[in-house]
Amino acid sequence: MTLLNEQSSLTKISRGTDYEQHPTLKQIVPGHTCLSCDVCCRFLDQQSHLAPIFTKEEFDKAVQVRLSAGLFQNSRDGSSRQIRLKPYRDLFICPAFDPNTQQCTIYEHRPLDCQIYPLAIMRDIDGQKVVLGIDPICPFAEAKIQTQSFQHYADYISSFLESEIVVNRIAQNRDLIGCFQENVVVVRQLTKLTEKVVAKIAPPTDPC
Ligand code: SF4
Ligand code: SF4
Repeated sequence: MTLLNEQSSLTKISRGTDYEQHPTLKQIVPGHTCLSCDVCCRFLDQQSHLAPIFTKEEFDKAVQVRLSAGLFQNSRDGSSRQIRLKPYRDLFICPAFDPNTQQCTIYEHRPLDCQIYPLAIMRDIDGQKVVLGIDPICPFAEAKIQTQSFQHYADYISSFLESEIVVNRIAQNRDLIGCFQENVVVVRQLTKLTEKVVAKIAPPTDPC
């Protein structure tokens, strides 16, 4: 879920040097838009591969501040964790989501996977490149994807993801790189990330 956090500095983040200390990225979707939307943090399938992935460090922080370690399962990459979804009415929700307030209860410590949404890191259709996509299921993204401000935001996220510290972090937590999704609009190639992980993104047991 994406709520307002307009305090982050574009300059700081785009250098990629403050990821450890200031992991909160600038958001493009206004908070009031998210609060009246019912898409994020809810899933149709309890085993959804789209359930958020936490890096080892994000997992440690989430457990330290609020969540039980038992709410997570190990990911395939051996480092990251994927949160287990829980039933709620006729859907499944992230256990960090409070459906009464529509808020993420670990908002300040939510993982990068959630922070960048409605953008997403995924493989291209051949599975050989890492790309940045925009998910048009987000109504705000669908309406604004062609605007200059959204394209600038894609540049901002792309440069953050291509910074050395983030490339290395994602390379250690490869499940952050999702499978190709047909409905997601590819907007940027993530060249450095591809170079770092290309030999590893399509092993024989790869489920993508
Ligand atoms: S789908 Fe888009 S508008 Fe809706 S909660 Fe998520 S980020 Fe906000
Ligand atoms: S961690 Fe927070 S933002 Fe991410 S899916 Fe769960 S409730 Fe939503």
